[in-house]
Amino acid sequence: MGQPRGLVEVAPFARRNYYREAVKRLRKLARKFHLAWGGAGEAQRRSYRILCNSPVPEKPLAIASGLGAPGRNGLVITPEAGSRVIIAAMTLPFALEGDGPLSGKPFPLCGGCSPVAPCIRACPTGALRGDGSIARERCIQWYASGGDIQAGSGRGVPPEVAAKWGRRLYGCTCCQDACPHNRGPLSGAATEEGVLPALLDGGELLSLDDESLKARFRGTALGMAWLSAETIRRSVRLALRGY
Ligand code: SF4
Ligand code: SF4
Repeated sequence: MGQPRGLVEVAPFARRNYYREAVKRLRKLARKFHLAWGGAGEAQRRSYRILCNSPVPEKPLAIASGLGAPGRNGLVITPEAGSRVIIAAMTLPFALEGDGPLSGKPFPLCGGCSPVAPCIRACPTGALRGDGSIARERCIQWYASGGDIQAGSGRGVPPEVAAKWGRRLYGCTCCQDACPHNRGPLSGAATEEGVLPALLDGGELLSLDDESLKARFRGTALGMAWLSAETIRRSVRLALRGY
């Protein structure tokens, strides 16, 4: 049986606000570190700076830190959770000694999964170049995040990408779903931050003005400052065209 008309989809990774959860956990750690190693008031804030969704080059830093390996899907593949991760960081006012991978599991190898990488085959728009880079102007997720609007490209979603949009309000995961490193259970990721249902009423979302739309998603993965009402509305329209 098909999905009821007018409903638009939120991908599983956006049905909780994992960024908010990560910041919450790091703040807790910062308080512990502060108690153990000092730094008061302003000094504490400066010493234990939390970076999440920030302009720092998160992926290269995560790889250099030994958290994972670069994947041909353009993401960091970790031994514990494949590429089903978000990256958040905290600065420390002291140096740490290096250690091995967190879990001690063998480091993930990208590309050993099949002669033709499943992630590349699974991408509906052919956005993965095969060398770990993404042709973002072909990537559904880039447009769903408003990447083109922020970059001021002004060209909108190209017809060949719009044709593959499906019923997505937010989140394309085809390349991740195809990756063998992303199978198996995830532990330690549960959160009740920013809960969103899998399906939302697209018509209702289109009836909301900018302020109400922002209020509707406040605290959720779709409530990020960089995700404009214009971007969300465009995704809803594209998703409804799929009916
Ligand atoms: S997010 Fe979607 S469109 Fe973008 S590279 Fe992955 S499968 Fe392709
Ligand atoms: S599907 Fe294969 S090639 Fe693609 S990211 Fe996963 S391991 Fe790498």
